[in-house]
Amino acid sequence: MALPSKKAIKEGNITNYEYKMLNHDMVLRYDEEKCIECGFCHRVCPVTTMEVEGKEIPLKRTAIGTPDEMGVDSDLKIVVDTDKCIWCGCCTWICPGYTLELYINGEKKLNLVDNGSLPEFEEEVRTLESGQEVRKVVEGSIKITCTEKDTNLIEKFAEECSTGALSKEGNDVVVDEDKCILCYKCSEASKNYDNISVKVFRDRFKKVKGEASSVWNGIMLRVLGKEGKIKGIKSFSQNKLADSVLRLMGKGTEEEPEV
Ligand code: SF4
Ligand code: SF4
Ligand code: SF4
Repeated sequence: MALPSKKAIKEGNITNYEYKMLNHDMVLRYDEEKCIECGFCHRVCPVTTMEVEGKEIPLKRTAIGTPDEMGVDSDLKIVVDTDKCIWCGCCTWICPGYTLELYINGEKKLNLVDNGSLPEFEEEVRTLESGQEVRKVVEGSIKITCTEKDTNLIEKFAEECSTGALSKEGNDVVVDEDKCILCYKCSEASKNYDNISVKVFRDRFKKVKGEASSVWNGIMLRVLGKEGKIKGIKSFSQNKLADSVLRLMGKGTEEEPEV
């Protein structure tokens, strides 16, 4: 087997994205059953590339996202590009659904938290009707404007919510703020509804333990930042995060030789 080897192995609801070196292996484990399609993993991933779809529309891609965001055919809700992934665990760190886990040499681990680059969340966990636990990782607010007259469409839109926070009330959509985790799902879905719009304001992360680092600043820009800031995908902070991850992996900036 040529090393490093990278592959995706799917067994039932679990997909293991593996990276093997001579004496080191990492596995990013995705449990689709728990995935609430909130979109945080896609936003937090530091491996950001700009690709050109078709002729003119630039599309921001990371190493993880929906098949649509990744430009691939797949039945999975979320897929990982093993060519781009650097197994840093940022997606694991933020995942509100406890859907992603990172294993290093068989041990569940988040080096970026252990070395102080990323802080730990003071978690605020809620239990969905399905019994699944979901945590809120950001603070802020949400505003939904609905001028739709078709109540079936309003009901359909309310069902788009990842946590059951939306419901139809008359000709309006109301949000249960205790259940809402301020994710990306309904705002993305609203693009398919002519008369419903969603604005989510993510003001700050939930309270965290530990000091903010430059890595943390980069993540704040990507997850919370205004559109203009998010466009700075090659920002200083993001490059620092990539450098930090590569150092952790002992890779420097060079690829490992083929064995
Ligand atoms: S952050 Fe977790 S729950 Fe949300 S879409 Fe990604 S994998 Fe699914
Ligand atoms: S492990 Fe890191 S590089 Fe890989 S998908 Fe998650 S955030 Fe992106
Ligand atoms: S209402 Fe809140 S939890 Fe539900 S999809 Fe919208 S932002 Fe996410």
